Amino acid sequence: MALVAGVLPDFDIYFKPFIQHHTYSHSLVVLLPICAVLIVRFKGLGLAFSTGILSHLVADSFVGTIPPLYPLSDFQLGMSLGLPSPADTALEIGAFGLVLALASLNGDQKLVTKPHRESVYLAIPMVSIVTLTLLFAGDNNIPLAAFAFSRKALTLITLGHAALIGILGLGVFQGIRAFIADNRRPLKDSSGPPAQQ
Ligand SMILES: [Zn+2]
Repeated sequence: MALVAGVLPDFDIYFKPFIQHHTYSHSLVVLLPICAVLIVRFKGLGLAFSTGILSHLVADSFVGTIPPLYPLSDFQLGMSLGLPSPADTALEIGAFGLVLALASLNGDQKLVTKPHRESVYLAIPMVSIVTLTLLFAGDNNIPLAAFAFSRKALTLITLGHAALIGILGLGVFQGIRAFIADNRRPLKDSSGPPAQQ
């Protein structure tokens, strides 16, 4: 949930003719009330979603700026450390490392190491990240393959993204494995006494 929410603000790219990129979906005036409602209504899931969506704004304001008061004001807030830049690389690699550490601490790593039905949901962040990247590169005429390895900082980020997509892809594979295994289970399993679930 947090992974999907983390890329969600940039989904405004999909609505390009109607909404300008980096406006409503990067505004605290718009997002804070939504996050508050989601946390009150959905508790933990709402908190995961809000953490993801607000982390996008924090990260964007490190490497660039965000319009926190849009549409009330065009005021831009941020440190503009640059994209790509060493700060951006440190931020991305650091966040990736943090997610890996958290996943191994809370047991989420089992979603990619063992067959689990829930793992198919990892297809959502995987498809989000891949399509957003392709769409953004297409819109801005960026030759991805040449750009990805053009600088040291970018090479690290590219490798990190490849690893992330590999992990998410492995998760989707484990999810599909779990579904196939469940379908193959002999009938007597399901006709026995009701399982404690
Ligand atoms: Zn953004």
